[in-house]
Amino acid sequence: MHKLTILGATGSIGSSTLKVIDQNSEQFSVVALVAGQNVEKMRELCIKYSPKYAVMSTPEAAHQLERTLNSAGAKIEVLYGEAAMSMVSSLEEVDTVMAAIVGSAGLMPTMAAVKAGKRVLLANKEALVMSGQLFIDEVKRSNAQLLPVDSEHNAIFQCLPPATQSQLGHCDLASQGISHILLTGSGGPFRYSDPSTLADVTPAQAIAHPNWSMGPKISVDSATMMNKGLEYIEARWLFNTQPEQLKVLIHPQSVIHSMVQFLDGSVIAQMGEPDMATPIAYAMAYPNRVNAGVSALDFTQIAELTFMAPDYSRYPCLKLAMDACFEGQHATTALNAANEVAVDAFLNERLRFTEIAKLNHSVVDKICATHTQVQSNNLESLLELDKMARLYAKELITGHAL
Ligand code: NAD
Ligand code: MG
Repeated sequence: MHKLTILGATGSIGSSTLKVIDQNSEQFSVVALVAGQNVEKMRELCIKYSPKYAVMSTPEAAHQLERTLNSAGAKIEVLYGEAAMSMVSSLEEVDTVMAAIVGSAGLMPTMAAVKAGKRVLLANKEALVMSGQLFIDEVKRSNAQLLPVDSEHNAIFQCLPPATQSQLGHCDLASQGISHILLTGSGGPFRYSDPSTLADVTPAQAIAHPNWSMGPKISVDSATMMNKGLEYIEARWLFNTQPEQLKVLIHPQSVIHSMVQFLDGSVIAQMGEPDMATPIAYAMAYPNRVNAGVSALDFTQIAELTFMAPDYSRYPCLKLAMDACFEGQHATTALNAANEVAVDAFLNERLRFTEIAKLNHSVVDKICATHTQVQSNNLESLLELDKMARLYAKELITGHAL
């Protein structure tokens, strides 16, 4: 029986994780659920799953949850704040932590799970983008088991030889016969739109992804392809790639979820319905397989599989992230922070869609002008850098300086 803490339980990945647990309740049970401020959803989950702990981000949300659980007669310890999230991520009785908080808020609880040597199912790509080498080094030091949940990285993981799978973050791809990692992406809802119309895109249009159903932040990131950029950085760390080993490919149908190309000319792809329950179930049951409740691909219904190179003028955020990736940790931490501020401002109609890339660019340029790789080699200085990048991004927005 695997015992889980689910970070981000009320979100899209959290819900899919709980669906996989429902399908396989003899193999998985919930010890702790963690969320931001969605008390109503958390209450529902607490009643259904009876975890030992429920953790919210704020005291107000926790008190509200505690009151409603008390009146329902549920005996659950309700806590709040980052320290409590880290505590439930490192509990002795928990062996597996699903890291699915969105954004930088997930870093410390995910890191706590890593430090405690847990089996860490990583959906929260921002945590890895923010901390890169530090995260990977900590996985090795604490003997944690890292399993990628992001569908592309999960697909790549599935295509890798077992020896490479067991050395995530440190594998030498070439010595395993691997020439390239091919990271695929659908191109989002605006892949065929006239670029001159993008300045007027609304939040509702941006979060309507053609193939995947996801939370609002990652949906906007998919529309700008910043998501693929963050995934490029995520892949760089997970698979220890050199720049020439990692390629991005647009594949509008989202049937292939990524591929690995070998020195002998072979290419191995992982395919499936665009449903996160598949990579989640794979990571949860690894090295076994369980029913994810996902329908099988019907190849007779797939008219075509097409591919094209990304057009960076349509997706400036993608190029920015690829450049930042090999510029250094200071650049990717700044980019992630700027992007979180930009996406939030766009969703609240304080920034135009096309200004997301401009804001990200300005913040990365500013941080790169004042910082170097050497200054960002410990967690405290990375968190400080993250704060500085956010402040600068907010200043640019309030000063209408884009
Ligand atoms: P979501 O917005 O649906 O859910 C986010 C979860 O994080 C919620 O439970 C929310 O309550 C919680 N949260 C937010 N702020 C918090 C805080 N300060 N403290 C604690 N919890 C907090 O997002 P999602 O789509 O489920 O994505 C979650 C993560 O998984 C993201 O990092 C995303 O990039 C990654 N991911 C998602 C998908 C997908 O299909 N949804 C695919 C790949 C990767
Ligand atoms: Mg993905």
